[in-house]
Amino acid sequence: MTIFIETDLEGISGVSSLDMVASGERYARERLMADTNAAVAGAFDGGADRVFVLDGHGGGRNFLIDMLDPRAEIAPMDAIRESDACFEIGAHAMAGTQNAFLDHTQSSVSWHDYRINGRRYGETGQLAVFAGAFGVPFVMASGDFAACAEVRALFGNIETASVKTAVGRNRAACLPEEEAERLIRESAARAVKLAGSVPPFRVLFPMEISVEFNRTDYADDAMARRPDAERTGPRTVRRIIREIRSHDDLMI
Ligand SMILES: [Zn+2]
Repeated sequence: MTIFIETDLEGISGVSSLDMVASGERYARERLMADTNAAVAGAFDGGADRVFVLDGHGGGRNFLIDMLDPRAEIAPMDAIRESDACFEIGAHAMAGTQNAFLDHTQSSVSWHDYRINGRRYGETGQLAVFAGAFGVPFVMASGDFAACAEVRALFGNIETASVKTAVGRNRAACLPEEEAERLIRESAARAVKLAGSVPPFRVLFPMEISVEFNRTDYADDAMARRPDAERTGPRTVRRIIREIRSHDDLMI
């Protein structure tokens, strides 16, 4: 049983302010490693024999590698293809979610609304769709309360570990560190057992990926960047894709 874990930073335990995420401060990165290690430990507790980890926030470089559980392997390019189930650690809710810590989808500056086949998704949804395209079920997420609620609303009764609650958008009230780690570890262990019963989250192809930007110039930029993009409105751009090879295929 091989588990693929992707991490983000906003939903990590102990990370309680916008500033801690924006500055990438040492404490936030230490907590990232603590939550990641809790999930790795839980995966092995639950019967996994291999665990890949991918540093997913802001293009990577957030891991403090010397703190990573040595049993975990940094995910190589095609790790998802070799995996049996997928977790997200440190998740945040999609753009436009109330009472959610740092809700956004990709860019809080330029992206207003993101949809796949007309349905709104955030970054956890993208990960589930990406994993599902390779036949891998998405079975567990940790993050703030709103991120966990979003995941259950989209994917049903999979495992979630809520480690904090938003107080407005830019602050969070966090569980004590040890309690958050214990929740993540226990949830991860149970999630391994779900791998055989939760189906991969598959969406219909051809798939329409659409983004409503905040301003027309962001839509201009997207049109210049993506040769296959179509302008569907002053601020909206879409692409039609027929297969998913990498996470970038789900972007605009
Ligand atoms: Zn992030």
